[in-house]
Amino acid sequence: MKNKNTNSDTIRIKKHLGQNFLSDQNILSKIVAAAEIDPETYVIEIGPGTGALTEKLLKAKKVLAYEIDKELIPGLTKRFSHSGNLTILNQDILSVDIDQDIEKHFGPKTRAIVVANLPYYITTPILMKFLETSKLVDKMILMMQMEVARRLTSKPNTKDYNALSVAISYRSSAEYLFKVPRTVFYPQPNVDSAVVSIKTRYSKPLMPNNESFFFVMVRNCFQQRRKTLANNLLSAYPKFERNQLETILSESKIDAKARAETLSLEDFIRLSDVLEKFV
Ligand code: SAM
Repeated sequence: MKNKNTNSDTIRIKKHLGQNFLSDQNILSKIVAAAEIDPETYVIEIGPGTGALTEKLLKAKKVLAYEIDKELIPGLTKRFSHSGNLTILNQDILSVDIDQDIEKHFGPKTRAIVVANLPYYITTPILMKFLETSKLVDKMILMMQMEVARRLTSKPNTKDYNALSVAISYRSSAEYLFKVPRTVFYPQPNVDSAVVSIKTRYSKPLMPNNESFFFVMVRNCFQQRRKTLANNLLSAYPKFERNQLETILSESKIDAKARAETLSLEDFIRLSDVLEKFV
């Protein structure tokens, strides 16, 4: 197990918790600048680690930081003992009630933003948790592995467009901001990273009749990339004959030979509404 020396303590680095610490001041400043924090902003940080990013977030009104690794808590508490606007919770971000915590620590109906260098092993669950369960988060500035950043921000007809791109575009607008090379982390991960801005959308311009059916269907549509949409759907919903499915596609105004990566969000919503009636 490798160690990292912070100012005065040595900590045990836990790879299984996605601990890749960042100390490049220039990159930390770029992340914070992208978050546009002012003295009225309420910030949630996921995984403060040893506090490199946290320190720069403290110009906000208040910061609420969740760190799962209890061994990091004494160091954080010591480092920020003079900061009156930081609360550190030794909790798993995936098991908390985000909006309840926002209201408890920031005040009723307070709007917050999230800024984090994410633990990569749970990037997608964290994203989906915020997008699915929180109504009080307006924006997320997140560092993640490059491959996921590309997927999140990709458009139809590109090689990175997949079920996650569709789910994200349904709930938010995601923008790729900048690349962060693997060399600025300790320990160095095997992949480069990127920072993404995700602005959440609470009133959706278009909604499927059945949201949970829609999400499962989108995943089914991308099941095997080399297959056509029709073939993926035939495997996922074996009760259909090919000609029935072609009728459903045509009713949804989708070409029978199309591939999932060519469909827009609107196409998926139309398809979901038609298909759901027959499943
Ligand atoms: N913010 C620090 C930095 O930029 O140097 C550390 C970032 S490191 C990539 C991810 C951090 O998230 C680690 O400190 C890790 O312990 C923490 N973490 C991992 N899983 C977590 C979870 N489920 N809930 C809260 N924190 C978690």
